[in-house]
Amino acid sequence: MFGAVFYFCIMANQNDQFKKVISHAKEYGYVFQSSEIYDGLSAVYDYAQNGVELKNNIRDYWWKAMVQMHDNIVGIDAAIFMHPQTWKASGHVDAFNDPLIDNKDSKKRYRADVLVEDYVGKLDAKIEKEVKKAAKRFGDAFDKEEFVSTNPRVLGYKEKGETILKRLGKSLENEDLADVKALIEELEIACPVSGSRNWTDVKQFNLMFGTKLGASADSAMDLYLRPETAQGIFVNFLNVQKTGRMKIPFGIAQTGKAFRNEIVARQFIFRMREFEQMEMQYFIKPGTQKKWYEFWKEARLKWHLSLGLGEDNYRFHDHEKLAHYADAASDIEFRFPFGFKELEGIHSRTDFDLSQHEKHTGKKLQYFDPEENKSYVPYVVETSIGLDRMFLAIFSNALQEEELDNDTTRVVLKLPSVLAPFKAAVLPLVKKDGLPEIAHKIVEDLKWEFNVMYDEKDAVGRRYRRQDAIGTPFCITVDHDTLDNETVTLRERDTMKQQRVNISDLMASIKNEVDMKSWLKRM
Ligand code: ATP
Repeated sequence: MFGAVFYFCIMANQNDQFKKVISHAKEYGYVFQSSEIYDGLSAVYDYAQNGVELKNNIRDYWWKAMVQMHDNIVGIDAAIFMHPQTWKASGHVDAFNDPLIDNKDSKKRYRADVLVEDYVGKLDAKIEKEVKKAAKRFGDAFDKEEFVSTNPRVLGYKEKGETILKRLGKSLENEDLADVKALIEELEIACPVSGSRNWTDVKQFNLMFGTKLGASADSAMDLYLRPETAQGIFVNFLNVQKTGRMKIPFGIAQTGKAFRNEIVARQFIFRMREFEQMEMQYFIKPGTQKKWYEFWKEARLKWHLSLGLGEDNYRFHDHEKLAHYADAASDIEFRFPFGFKELEGIHSRTDFDLSQHEKHTGKKLQYFDPEENKSYVPYVVETSIGLDRMFLAIFSNALQEEELDNDTTRVVLKLPSVLAPFKAAVLPLVKKDGLPEIAHKIVEDLKWEFNVMYDEKDAVGRRYRRQDAIGTPFCITVDHDTLDNETVTLRERDTMKQQRVNISDLMASIKNEVDMKSWLKRM
């Protein structure tokens, strides 16, 4: 009983935190509901004036690390529309399905696998609770690793979760949807809305959006909006390899929109129907996939850690159930406000995609390996991350409410400064005595290097709070001393420390903190 109450408290806290994230994103110009004045469109969102800057910065951070810092990785930007046969070849027409289940009382639709995974997530929350309790009891002497590998209760939860996921994986792989339903019933999973366990059978549902190309109804061609960006890379594999004279191993990367008619789309920008992916396909010699799979798992985790969101907030989840194209797959999961969930996938895709496109086009998609003196269809290791999910990970992690010394609180968005929409705000202390002119001049100079904002409205303390809430890492205040000695106050968002600096040193001081190079060098 105590467990249930505690779990309820965790969930309530998580819900509250998540609600705060969503409302802060709206209030401070990060994310709006699409077509809001028409009451919105379910699971479709627009990025607002600050959101688009953050999103662009995340994309640039990825592109720099994945494309520009690698001599053997290049980028492309393929079209969203592709020949419809592409999706037959890739397996999406036949197999890009999610298992859905309806609750007969609430009429709400769920992904059957997600219901089970959420159940396992609750077991994880119980483990965390045990760990917290023990850490408190043992104090400094607490050894977390030893505790989780020996405590009978934790081991019990762990084993239960693993057994459930194994069974789910097997049933899905064997298309045994009756067993997925049986599992939901055995675990006594209830609909979160109606609370009832009155479920329909589990059915498969294809996630691709269809559309038409062509003017006249009879000659129009059925098309799909791409459900992943990867296929745009595979169909261009030979074009890029030949024109770029690429030698294996090499990678092709792209970022762009993807579309999925998601069954459950109730988690803000975590699961959208229109979203953006950042993907890289790494073409390798067959037989070397294990090595490259491990290499990219490690490289991608390092990229995440470079942003300083906290090592404890990430974990790998190796897949039991493999997609039709994969021989190994792992997710990098992140601790979102609603628990650990997939942020990025690393997949060893074998030669599945290129071989399928060979079959469906009758064209060879092979690489002549001069070292081996023979041609082969390369194997592929893919890294695939959702830009919007990365946005949510960063944004939700950054949003904090801090108690201050003077018994007040402040809301601060501690975005990694390299990604913040604005690197600095320039604030004249008053709107007279020539201070605004100096402030404008500073903005004009700095904006060649970074995005900076001018703000003169309200008392300076309120302006600091506003910039804290937007996530601006630095405030530059121009005051009357500036008139005498050409210095300004530079205030840091996270520490709230203030120091006097020469106007001529501003560029270097800020650059040192927000430069992509110094952040990526932490990898
Ligand atoms: P999930 O299990 O959460 O549905 P997935 O395994 O189907 O995700 P992939 O096909 O591997 O996802 O896509 C790669 C990445 O694209 C995911 O790790 C995620 O970050 C992102 N992504 C997938 N679907 C969505 C979506 N509907 N909205 C936002 N991002 C998504």
